[in-house]
Amino acid sequence: MKIVMLGAPGAGKGTQAIKIADKYGIPHISTGDIFRANIKNGTELGKKAKEYMDQGLLVPDELTTNLVVDRIQQEDCKKGYILDGFPRTIPQATCLTEALASLNDALDYAINVDVQDEKIVTRMGGRRACPNCGATYHVKYMAPKIEGICDTCGAELILRADDEPATVQKRLDVYHAQTQPLIDYYNEKGILKTVDGDKDLNEVFSDILAILEA
Ligand code: ADP
Ligand code: ADP
Ligand code: ZN
Repeated sequence: MKIVMLGAPGAGKGTQAIKIADKYGIPHISTGDIFRANIKNGTELGKKAKEYMDQGLLVPDELTTNLVVDRIQQEDCKKGYILDGFPRTIPQATCLTEALASLNDALDYAINVDVQDEKIVTRMGGRRACPNCGATYHVKYMAPKIEGICDTCGAELILRADDEPATVQKRLDVYHAQTQPLIDYYNEKGILKTVDGDKDLNEVFSDILAILEA
């Protein structure tokens, strides 16, 4: 099963992608997580990516696409994978379609997690991230067992710099300009499925499962 997750920043792509990956035993590939790991490790890629991420802008396509095309050809991706946060532009989507076609392959589903902008801004204010292991929480909707502490690794949770309200608005603008066109792109390919991301996160998950099991 080869899936891409679409949706605005904060729509719940990552939350759902982790649950799907877990259920089907396929890798969850998040370009945001890959960039953040590179920033933490001080790599060249991380240094370049950080300049854009801090401003709420997209990392250039050429830095992103090769990374993903290499990743999906690794052994653990044979049974499928779930891409979270990629593609985010039409050129990225076209490169992915072509790379897959050259391997005689194609995506099965593009799942669009639909949430209104106004809801996103409040939701992002409550997102907390673990700087150590990358786990994501929400102060209200997905609270850690001990306030401010990662359940998985015990590190202190942070508000991501790019989750500050001003940067969230910038990222939403970038989403509408560059990423939203992918909804039409995958609709034309006949693999688009839209779920209401405003529902409780377990309901969103059952709606997604209903699509995948249909
Ligand atoms: P969110 O989950 O809130 O949408 P991500 O963790 O997916 O955020 O992405 C954080 C940042 O990483 C983005 O704002 C962007 O700067 C960069 N990024 C992630 N994926 C891509 C991509 N496919 N193309 C360009 N930039 C990306
Ligand atoms: P994305 O990967 O699309 O940027 P996340 O999965 O990180 O989004 O979710 C953004 C924030 O909203 C997180 O704090 C997450 O815990 C929370 N969240 C995710 N899904 C829901 C939901 N259905 N209802 C309420 N909060 C949610
Ligand atoms: Zn952690």
